[in-house]
Parts: sequence; C-alpha cells; structure tokens
Amino acid sequence: MNVYDAARMAELMAPLGYGHAAAAEDADMVILNTCHIREKAAEKLYSDLGRLARLKAARRGAGAEMLIAVAGCVAQAEGEEVLRRAPCVDIVVGPQTYHRLPEILARPGDGPVIEVDFPVEDKFAALPARRAARRPSAFLSIQEGCDKFCAFCVVPYTRGAEFSRPVADIVAEAESLVAAGAREITLLGQNVNAYRGAPAATGGNRGLAPLLRRLAAIEGIERLRYTTSHPRDMDDELIAAHGDLAALMPFLHLPAQSGSDRILAAMNRRHTVEDYLRTIERLRAARPDIALGSDFIVGFPGETEADFEATLALVRAVGFAQAYAFKFSPRPGTPAATLDGQVSEAEKAARLDALQALLAERQAAFNRAFVGRVLPVLFERRGRRPGQLVGRSPHMQAVHAMLPDDALGAIVPVEIAACHAHSLEGVAPSPDDDAARPGLDDAARAAGMPA
Ligand code: SAH
Ligand code: SF4
Repeated sequence: MNVYDAARMAELMAPLGYGHAAAAEDADMVILNTCHIREKAAEKLYSDLGRLARLKAARRGAGAEMLIAVAGCVAQAEGEEVLRRAPCVDIVVGPQTYHRLPEILARPGDGPVIEVDFPVEDKFAALPARRAARRPSAFLSIQEGCDKFCAFCVVPYTRGAEFSRPVADIVAEAESLVAAGAREITLLGQNVNAYRGAPAATGGNRGLAPLLRRLAAIEGIERLRYTTSHPRDMDDELIAAHGDLAALMPFLHLPAQSGSDRILAAMNRRHTVEDYLRTIERLRAARPDIALGSDFIVGFPGETEADFEATLALVRAVGFAQAYAFKFSPRPGTPAATLDGQVSEAEKAARLDALQALLAERQAAFNRAFVGRVLPVLFERRGRRPGQLVGRSPHMQAVHAMLPDDALGAIVPVEIAACHAHSLEGVAPSPDDDAARPGLDDAARAAGMPA
C-alpha cells in the first residue's frame, strides 16, 4: 500500500512541475513515506532524516532549498514527535491526508505543517483521475483502514477505520491504469476481502467477488490479484470466484499469524487453526492449483515452545508457496505491547530462524515442481543481467528469462529450466516446440494464453 501511496503522491505533484529526481541531493523536495508496522521499519525514518538534514544544509550552502516531508504511518503515529526528533522536517502528513500536499505547498507561512487528522473529505476524490502506470502490473487501493484490532497491530490506529471505495471510482481508476499500459491489477486493502462497495453506488452491500467480476470484464485486464485478506472474510462467493474467474490468478496471500489456537485467541484473530485449514480446503476445491502465501509472527507474548511447534505443524500441513515470518515487535499503544509473558529476543531469533528455514524449504519444494513445465509469465522489468527480463508466473513466482525488450509488458509462455531460492529461470520455447507440445498447461490456458 505504501508503494501505491507513493505513486499517488508522485502523480499529485506532477502538475506542480515535480518529477522524479535521480538522487536525493538533486531533489527540491524529498518525501519519506514511512511504515510503522514493526519497530525496525519505523526507526529507519530517523536514520534517513539524519542523512537528509546534512543534504539539506549542503544544498542551502549552495543557494538551493530542499523541502522535507514525512508521510505514512510513522508520521500518523508520531506527529509532532517527528519534528522534535528531526527539526529539518517541513511537512508531516498521514496516509489519509497526503492528498493535501499541493494545497499545503501553496499556502503562505514558513513554519512546519503537521496534518495527521482523519479527514471527512475523500482522499481518493482529491487525487488525479488519470493514473500513470509505470509497469505492466499496477496496484489499486480499494479499501483502507481496519476494524479488526488484532492485539499486535498498529494499522487500526494509523490507517483508521475501515472504508471501501465506490465501485464506479475503482472501475474508472482501473480503466485509466489499463489505458496507461497495465495488464495486471492488484487490488489493495489492509483487509481487502472485507471490501463492501458503497451502497449508494452499487445498490447494495456488495463484496469483493462482484467487484472482481466487474473488473475482469474490462478489456485489457488480463490478470487480477488482491491482497491482504483476513481468513474470516473469505466468503463463499469469493471462493467461488477463484474457481470460475479466469483473470483471477491462482495465488492467495492469506495471513495465518500462528498455528496455535491459544495464541490466535490472544492475538484476537477471531479464527482457529481449524477454520483456517477449512478455508484452504474450500479454496483448493474451487481452484485445485491455487498456491498460498502467509504471514507469521513468532514470539507473541505467552508463546511457548509447544505453540511455536504448532505453527511449524501448520506450515507443514499447508505447504505455502511463499510466506513471511516476523519477530513480534511491541508497538506503542497496542494491547500486546504490555501483555505479560514477553518472549526473550534470543528465543524470538531462534524461532524466526527455524520458521524461515522451514518456509524456505517449502518454497523450494513448491518451485521445483515447476521445472520442465511451461508457464505464462507477465514480464514487468529488466533484470540485472543484460538481455534479461523479470516477470511473474500466475502463482506469483519471480521468473527470469533472456528475452528481447519487446516482451516487456507481454504475457509470454516460458519453459522453466531451473529453480533458485527465490526465483525460477525460464527459456522461451521455440515456435516449433509449441507445435510438438500437447499444448500449454491448464494454468496457461486459464490465464488466457494462446494455445
Ligand atoms: N491486514 C493484514 C496484515 C497487515 S500487517 C492481515 O491482517 O493479515 C502485515 C503483517 O505484519 C501482518 O500480517 C503481521 O504478520 C505483521 N505484523 C503486524 N504487526 C506486527 C507486530 N507488532 N510485530 C510483528 N509483526 C507484525
Ligand atoms: Fe492489523 Fe490485519 Fe489485524 Fe487489521 S486484520 S489489525 S491490519 S493484522
């Protein structure tokens, strides 16, 4: 979502004459878009600001100015504190107020500006209607905020209450992305499957599944994804969409957080391990080749060795294609930060290592199964090696291949020749090969590839 917000800020500033600077020292304005989800992410802001303060002073010495703005969830959570710790900052805006940047810049006055309220006005309505897709795969925010209040999480406090954008606005933004070259759209929300299209616009309390169906009807959209989902909000209609909507890609990131019911209850996740496994069963029944992702937290207060073992058991049972694991980070203002039974740093580190090793093993096993198969890959950017392009398979695997530049933005069938820790290596099958082959595999057909 921060990538989406940063793109929107750039689009917002473009009519004022701002463009991307190659380096911070050349910039008239620097916007740091921040994340408050874990302490490590938040602390990065202050080290970056230390460096920027020196650049700002150097520019001033050379007769030029540099405006420094801090945006995102650290700005939201810390407000004035940002200015106290870093007096070089000129503007502090939150995730729901960054649309005011042009107006703040136009306003007279020379003191720093802090605007971190939760506004009544619609941020999205104030953002430019035209999108500038910079890649064939684009993000589109459809839902923000969260009402779930998991005990460890700052999101409900920094992003505010859950709200969904109207269907018509989302369709217009998607059409604009397609016109700018996007072929894949990932719908974003903190709780994206809790999406409820605004009743006025849709004539009802419509969920994510009808929205996906509406977007799939837009000519030029070939792939749809959505993230991040809460296990509790995987309703029947959404699961059914995975079965019959060809554009909906067979990968779902569905954070489980823990494999222990005791810890899930303490986390206020409002689902059990059984519920989670049942949801996955239903998804697999609808779309047998669906791959799954997840997030896990290790060392939540009170987590015993047995609870942690239960998490490992869940990972073994599901066999995730890719998943993230984090050490519990106590966040100021959240209930879990002050719970008894905080787990030692050493234990958290040991559990993180063990979980990450298991996840890496599962990911490698998942990837190995694709060697020798043909996958339709949407190539999004150049790779590190000359002549190399990088894209994504339907299952979200990163795929590298040596291909001409005109394959950028195209969905190309490639044969998987090898797999590495985090990516697959593909080769373009020759046209003769294609004739000899019994045909592309079903996933390729489902993704709209030519047979
Ligand atoms: N809305 C999403 C997740 C948003 S935060 C969901 O409900 O799944 C992204 C991930 O960061 C979470 O899934 C969680 O695993 C992790 N996370 C959030 N707060 C954390 C904390 N205090 N310490 C460690 N990890 C945390
Ligand atoms: Fe945070 Fe996700 Fe829980 Fe909401 S559902 S509180 S965003 S972890």
